[in-house]
Amino acid sequence: MPYYIIVLGTAGSGKTTLTSMLMSYLDSHQMDVATVNLDPAVEDLPYNPDVDIREWVDAREVMAKQGLGPNGALIASVDMLALNISELKDQVDSLRSNYVIIDTPGQLEIFAFRDSGPVVLRTIIGDSKAVSLFLIDGLYAVKPSNLFSAMLLSASTFFRIKYPQINVFTKIDLLSEAEYSGLLSMIESPEELASRVVEDAEANLMWSSEEVYSLAEKLYTFESVSVSNNSGQGFDDLYASIQRVVAGGEDYF
Ligand code: GDP
Ligand code: MG
Repeated sequence: MPYYIIVLGTAGSGKTTLTSMLMSYLDSHQMDVATVNLDPAVEDLPYNPDVDIREWVDAREVMAKQGLGPNGALIASVDMLALNISELKDQVDSLRSNYVIIDTPGQLEIFAFRDSGPVVLRTIIGDSKAVSLFLIDGLYAVKPSNLFSAMLLSASTFFRIKYPQINVFTKIDLLSEAEYSGLLSMIESPEELASRVVEDAEANLMWSSEEVYSLAEKLYTFESVSVSNNSGQGFDDLYASIQRVVAGGEDYF
């Protein structure tokens, strides 16, 4: 049975670029890997998907034919994706790869926070093992309150999707050394994150410092890795984290 790697994250967090880099990484380590594109609105992909939702659903066509705006067309497309899922699943089942990477639609909220997204994933994956990679834009995460809210979003995505999850900070090639070490210190320690969130004057907190600290501690249930999808930096760590989840199986959480 293949092992599924689901790539999730807000628009522009680097899902498509990471899918492409992870595919090359696994491929260069002699692993048999396939890719599935579930984004009905993407125009150009940096990789050649083995299965592509655009074969069944084209968000631009939905927009033109149903007279919908971009957002409405995306919602309709993701629902149409659910209708075409059995054909798509047959194609995925015929791939026979060790790893199948699933690149998801640009808008996390449309995919993860409506019913169709989790249903689509559950249907494709069936009884196989899977891990979710929750991508967080590293440039955005250098600010403590942004990092905190991104980690809360990661946790609420986990509650919907329900596969073991890893937080993946992307675009570290764009950070200065000081920004990168600041980010790492927050990623590695809930105390550091909590104290910096509390210090952050712009964060208008509804929680006391103790509450922020205990929330931060809970958010560290997920492993974190940081990568550059351009240079491939951090992909050894990412692969090691994925392997730990595979080995840990259902009891991971
Ligand atoms: P998606 O919407 O989550 O699929 O994001 P994309 O993969 O399309 O990436 C959005 C933009 O960020 C593109 O211009 C990518 O080239 C860029 N990008 C993604 N990952 C990285 C990274 O690790 N480093 C840098 N420098 N740019 C990145
Ligand atoms: Mg994308």
